[in-house]
Amino acid sequence: MNAKHTCNAHIRHDLRTPLNHLIGYTEMLQEELPSACASLLDDRLTRLLADAHRLLETINRPTPLPVGHFDALFPDWREKMALIEMDFQALSGTIDQHWQDACPDIEKIRTAIGHLRSLLENLSARPSVDLGETETATRQGSSSSAPLADGHLLIIDDRTENLELMQRRLMKEGYRVTLASTGQEALDRLETDTFDVIMLDWLMPDMSGSEVLAKIRSKFSQHELPVIVVTARHGSDMIVDALTQGANDYLAKPLDFPEARARLATQVYLRKVTQQLAEANRQLKQFSYIDGLTAIANRRKFDEYLLATWRRAQQEGAPVSLILLDVDFFKRYNDSLGHEAGDQALTRVAKAVSTGLFRVKDLAARYGGEEFAVILPETALEDALRVAERLRENIQCLNLPHPAGTEAGVVTASLGVGEWRPTAFCEPSALISLADKGLYQAKTAGRNRVGTLGGNILS
Ligand code: GH3
Ligand code: MG
Ligand code: MG
Repeated sequence: MNAKHTCNAHIRHDLRTPLNHLIGYTEMLQEELPSACASLLDDRLTRLLADAHRLLETINRPTPLPVGHFDALFPDWREKMALIEMDFQALSGTIDQHWQDACPDIEKIRTAIGHLRSLLENLSARPSVDLGETETATRQGSSSSAPLADGHLLIIDDRTENLELMQRRLMKEGYRVTLASTGQEALDRLETDTFDVIMLDWLMPDMSGSEVLAKIRSKFSQHELPVIVVTARHGSDMIVDALTQGANDYLAKPLDFPEARARLATQVYLRKVTQQLAEANRQLKQFSYIDGLTAIANRRKFDEYLLATWRRAQQEGAPVSLILLDVDFFKRYNDSLGHEAGDQALTRVAKAVSTGLFRVKDLAARYGGEEFAVILPETALEDALRVAERLRENIQCLNLPHPAGTEAGVVTASLGVGEWRPTAFCEPSALISLADKGLYQAKTAGRNRVGTLGGNILS
């Protein structure tokens, strides 16, 4: 694409920018009109809007011959521009006389009309223009009566008028809006604030939309932070580029507000639903780690946590200790007091075990049936034996009467302790087997005691 063509391809866009500012500010003026002037001005504003839309239709009209003299391509532009100016004169004359303070947007409309006129004069003076593309007319929707929107938007655009228009209109919808006029400013904002959706201008002088998007995507996925790219360029190449680089959606510039509003609402909604889903999944995962009877960690959590602890210890050369705990003569307990009492006793034992651990990284889990396990990361055997002894005492101190033959007359447990400094080639099953052997020692030595391999038995 040569320089002339690139320049001419933006003619429609250049014209639509002030025209959309004219329409946007006129619509806002109409929406915010003080009641005192509504009856007189509403009619004039409606007429001005209709004029502006007629000119917009002309500009958007597909032209069979895209190259030619501007006046030949759009023979009726002067007439339509004159109508706009005449109706604006009538409007501003009334406002200047009576309601100047109440209608601050009148100056913005005046500026947009001035800008539009000088662009049109300029184009008309050129020997030929190439519109570069043909398009169908853009739709100008009306405002909806939807409930107030909720969400924090970051709008990035190098043109102040675009930013201001979007901010005011979107804030009226209920959004919280933050503006950035450069990519860098936007990235700085992202460091300190959280946003639901970003609207990103694709063509910007300093840092391009593509660069900004790449930086955003290096930190946030499409689910975490949706980005709607706003682009003056039409054609699928650019849209495909933006979407493959991580944009969630795109909008053509100058913005058609109802379309922008609808696409934003979709992205805000999708983000909320995704967040709710992620939270539900997180909770579900938490539940899947909890033992239903005792409410401490279950076997699944035990297996995962032991493996994670093991891998870390392999890297750091740290010891890992494990306690296996088995309630003594529990079959007899159930048999004499019933299964429900047995369940209650197991819940009490689980509590005595978990409250006997003081470090956040220690994990108590129900290993299965009336057996429990405690993982003690970065703990040597000597310290693990002390913890096991404390747990044994805690269980005995519950003073749960055991009617069927323990020596203490109350519910007790036997505990086996193992310690391992995992090397690259050994797996956690080695540690489990070691603790299990310690437990066997404690059982055979008379129960209600702590055992470890090598006959080191505390009681
Ligand atoms: P030992 O001192 O040798 O461990 O004897 P024990 O009777 O505790 O061992 P055994 O393995 O023979 O019996 C374990 C009992 O634990 C049998 C089983 O009914 C009971 N048990 C396992 N899980 C539960 C449970 O969830 N609730 C109840 N109430 N009892 C359970
Ligand atoms: Mg058992
Ligand atoms: Mg038992």
